[in-house]
Amino acid sequence: MIAEIIAAGSEMLTPFRQDTNSLYLTAQLNELGVSVAFKTIVGDNLEHLTGAARVALGRADIVIFSGGLGPTEDDRTREAVAAALGAGLRRDAQIVTAMYKRFAARRMAMPENNARQADVIEGAEVLENAVGSAPGQYIDTVVGRHRKIVVLLPGPPRELQPMYEAGCRPRLAATLPQRHIAKRMLRMALAPESQVDARTAPIYKLYPDIETTILAGSAEIQLHFFCSKTTAEEAQARVDELVERVEQEMGDAVFSSHGESLEEVVLLMLGLRQMTLAAAESCTGGLLAERLTSVAGSSRYFVGGAVVYSDRLKTIFADVPEETVEREGPVSEAVARALAEGIRRRTGASIGVGITGIAGPGPGAPGPDAGKPIGLVYVALSTGEGGGGTTVAELNLTGERERVRWWASQHALELVRRSLLERG
Ligand code: ATP
Repeated sequence: MIAEIIAAGSEMLTPFRQDTNSLYLTAQLNELGVSVAFKTIVGDNLEHLTGAARVALGRADIVIFSGGLGPTEDDRTREAVAAALGAGLRRDAQIVTAMYKRFAARRMAMPENNARQADVIEGAEVLENAVGSAPGQYIDTVVGRHRKIVVLLPGPPRELQPMYEAGCRPRLAATLPQRHIAKRMLRMALAPESQVDARTAPIYKLYPDIETTILAGSAEIQLHFFCSKTTAEEAQARVDELVERVEQEMGDAVFSSHGESLEEVVLLMLGLRQMTLAAAESCTGGLLAERLTSVAGSSRYFVGGAVVYSDRLKTIFADVPEETVEREGPVSEAVARALAEGIRRRTGASIGVGITGIAGPGPGAPGPDAGKPIGLVYVALSTGEGGGGTTVAELNLTGERERVRWWASQHALELVRRSLLERG
């Protein structure tokens, strides 16, 4: 059973508006065990809309339209679908009366062209619009020898969503074979997408009944698994089996298998070990602290830290020796190390993190940092154990300022996670 979603509206062919209805509808259809195979965006043009409807009817079992149901000349979805199905349109007297009443209740005269919204395709059931004026339509028909379900929903999301839930979903659920869905997600920090795919594809390809999607972005790779079966237990067991095999392959690279964020995982791990964390941040300007403190309950394990953007504050708040800054430059391994050690000692935390780097857009300042490239970042972690217990990672990040800052914070969290894993 495959579906196509057609978003009608010229505004979505401009740089200013996006089709978000199809994201909502895709999630809803997936819940019913239906995959979306095609999405189409068409402008408000009768010929183009009719063409798109014909193509969709030729390749999908369920076709859902959003938009183009309003009263204006450019709202052509009804006519286009009627033409593609070879069906007529009849004006529904009940809907016209209801519309007159709505306008009368607001002491307004109904403009004549509003009546177009009462045009119903032959054989369609009318879906009530609880929020706006344009009703939807639900058509269960046969084209050629194939059963087709065609649904017309209004464009505004605040109208489309309640109409889908009240009118469309129950009809689809009653028609489609009952399916149960199981979903899981694995998250990995900093791993290159191609490497993750090369290692996991041989495994997930053994499960053709599970849809696997790899999403890359924000210094993280996510593997999404989606399985639909006749019983919930069967779907869950199948997905869990695949997740376990992929986790075995990727090992420690996986930081979360139940959706938690990296900061949540780090805090959880600190909690399990009864340890605390503090950070002295230069180029990330508090981003690491912001990420950690956005997790409720973080105060027990993230004690705080300092934004030490200037050289002077590196010394005042994190005890970085002035001569180290002068000799090595603020963006240096030695300063990162001193920041991590200083903030740990100052705050009494079990782990100190120091971050210093060049986020751009300009390269290193005159002095010892001159010539150091944009994206050069040092992240240090100090535990105060084993004669210092400080490790420093040198990163050469690419991209613009915000990207460099985000990746630096991600590296810092991942460094803490790895160090906590090592201590078991
Ligand atoms: P109306 O009665 O408001 O004209 P309609 O069914 O004709 O309803 P459109 O005119 O196509 O819908 O769209 C109305 C508004 O709904 C658009 O300006 C846009 O803001 C929003 N909209 C339409 N389609 C989508 C979509 N696919 N995703 C997100 N928003 C949409």
